[in-house]
Amino acid sequence: MTTSPAEILATATAPAVKVCRECGATFTCEFAYAAQFVHVCGTCSDRHAADDQRRAIENSEQRRRSAWASVCPFTYAETDAKRLPLPHKLSEVMAWQYGPRGLLLHGPTGSGKSRCAWLLMRREYLAFRWVRVLGCDAGIEYAAKFGESTVAAARWIEKACDANLLLLDDTFKARLTDSFESALFTIIAKRGEAGLPIIVTSNDDPDSLAARMTQDRSAPLIRRLREMTRPIAFTK
Ligand SMILES: [Zn+2]
Repeated sequence: MTTSPAEILATATAPAVKVCRECGATFTCEFAYAAQFVHVCGTCSDRHAADDQRRAIENSEQRRRSAWASVCPFTYAETDAKRLPLPHKLSEVMAWQYGPRGLLLHGPTGSGKSRCAWLLMRREYLAFRWVRVLGCDAGIEYAAKFGESTVAAARWIEKACDANLLLLDDTFKARLTDSFESALFTIIAKRGEAGLPIIVTSNDDPDSLAARMTQDRSAPLIRRLREMTRPIAFTK
């Protein structure tokens, strides 16, 4: 007896009942012709999708952790929280939540300000934020960019303005040239307007910092810094 094409079609497009090979539940496969390729029920299939997604996130976090090594200087990569000079300051720093108002960590050299700041940057970096760091040599870096071209210098400023989080690590320590002081002022002002936070480490408190800057720029800059950061004194 032969089967007509219409009969074949009717069989192929009819629903088929299958048993899930993972949980043993019975489920209906909408079309019989597809049933040979379907081995798990909807619930098990959804679980697989969730597992795949979780693994993808874990992999990208793993990559992020490895990539941090290229962002963070070696000196700060291996900070043992228990061996910090003022360990209780670390919890104060880490209590910071991402938002427009950053932190000003000030105190003498060797009090662990930079180490705490870098641990905070690491946490935010692992949370997939775009972080930028200007160190004590930022003035030289900026001058070099300026030597390249004004476009390169402008781009350098732009990146510092736009990053989700900017660390100014001892940036005010070196003698500031007029051009670099003006670049810093632009960066801080623009970030303030955009509600983007800065983390500052400095041996100076705002008052001693003001004394080292150009008269006409120091007052507005210090006012911005005070508005945009909460001070944490690294003193016992
Ligand atoms: Zn199942």
